[in-house]
Amino acid sequence: MELWQEMLRRSVDSGKDLVERFGFDKDLAERLNKLFHIRINPYYLSLIRYPGDPIWLQCIPDEQELQEDGLPEDPLAEDSHSPVPSIVHRYPDRVLFLTTSQCSMYCRFCTRKRKVGDSSKINMKYIQGGIDYIASRPEVRDVIMSGGDPLMLTDFMLERIIAGLRAIPHVEIIRLGTKMPCVLPQRITPKLVRMLKKYHPIYVNTHFNHPWECTPEAKRACELLADGGIPVGNQAVLMKGVNDNADVMLELVRKLLVMRVRPYYLYQADITKGANHFRTPVSVGLEIMDKLRGHTSGLAIPHFVIDAPGGGGKIPLLPQYVLGRNGNQVILRNYKYDIYVYPDVEEEPGVETPTVEKKFTRKKSRPVKIYEPDKAKV
Ligand SMILES: *Cc1c(COP(=O)(O)O)cnc(C)c1O
Ligand code: SF4
Repeated sequence: MELWQEMLRRSVDSGKDLVERFGFDKDLAERLNKLFHIRINPYYLSLIRYPGDPIWLQCIPDEQELQEDGLPEDPLAEDSHSPVPSIVHRYPDRVLFLTTSQCSMYCRFCTRKRKVGDSSKINMKYIQGGIDYIASRPEVRDVIMSGGDPLMLTDFMLERIIAGLRAIPHVEIIRLGTKMPCVLPQRITPKLVRMLKKYHPIYVNTHFNHPWECTPEAKRACELLADGGIPVGNQAVLMKGVNDNADVMLELVRKLLVMRVRPYYLYQADITKGANHFRTPVSVGLEIMDKLRGHTSGLAIPHFVIDAPGGGGKIPLLPQYVLGRNGNQVILRNYKYDIYVYPDVEEEPGVETPTVEKKFTRKKSRPVKIYEPDKAKV
């Protein structure tokens, strides 16, 4: 058994553990345990500094998860974009490939709470179906292995799946969505990286949410990946009490760059049943973005996105930099709120510009569709 597997075995993972180690009331612990899996491995547990801190909030169950909030279990309508059980196909040229239901830690804020940890919903037996689906769709050039956490698979299984994907000529890139560099960095071994390297181009997107997670162990894991030629990106989730603060986020993105991880997305927390207590007002995210851009390396700036309820995909949000127009002039402001007037280029009406072929012309008028969370099809 490898070290990481041994560590997983020593996880806190039951209602009984909650009672004995964290002083939970027995009945509450049972109810929480039934609702969504608990798993905190000894490494991640060691990052907790005090009860209720940003690490604790992400991994220790909370009474608020039991609230009857009436929110959807599948807020992104992934099930209705699922042509076969292991695939979510929402965008034209790329798919999510769910390869395991297991995670090295069960995050309390998880969007896929309804599926994750449930092997009747995500299962090895659906993997061949996923590979066949991708092979049958020549437009799929990017496959994102997700789950669960694909690095919960053994190196052997993982290689079989990746080799299967690589054998499909139209699959250009393979991405692994994994929390391992953050929650169980011991999973990233030289042996794993040697295997992955054979199937380039491979990208990894990982999931750090707080600067305390940027430990020497995590750094070593990210560096191993980078040394293997694997670009590592980070997808953070904005969460109340964890990282809903510009100073914390600034520290996080700077530390990520030092670990050779490029901040990629900052997600607004999804409207998920049992995770509503993590949500922040949209204005908080915009304010954080405003305090990052210009104040630190452009490389450190993620895209702030909301995954549209009902399955519209990720929608980027930016603070307002265009203040208005004055005839030919665009009124802009910079990161310090200084105002600039930019003379725009005017194209003469009726004169065709003989430059690049306009491939993506916008349709003139399209019927406007409005989705509201309670009316969105699930
Ligand atoms: C996030 C996501 C992707 C990948 O999106 P990128 O913006 O390319 O990173 C693909 N499919 C689904 C269903 C997703 O939710
Ligand atoms: S690792 Fe990802 S899929 Fe697993 S519980 Fe955390 S957020 Fe959910």
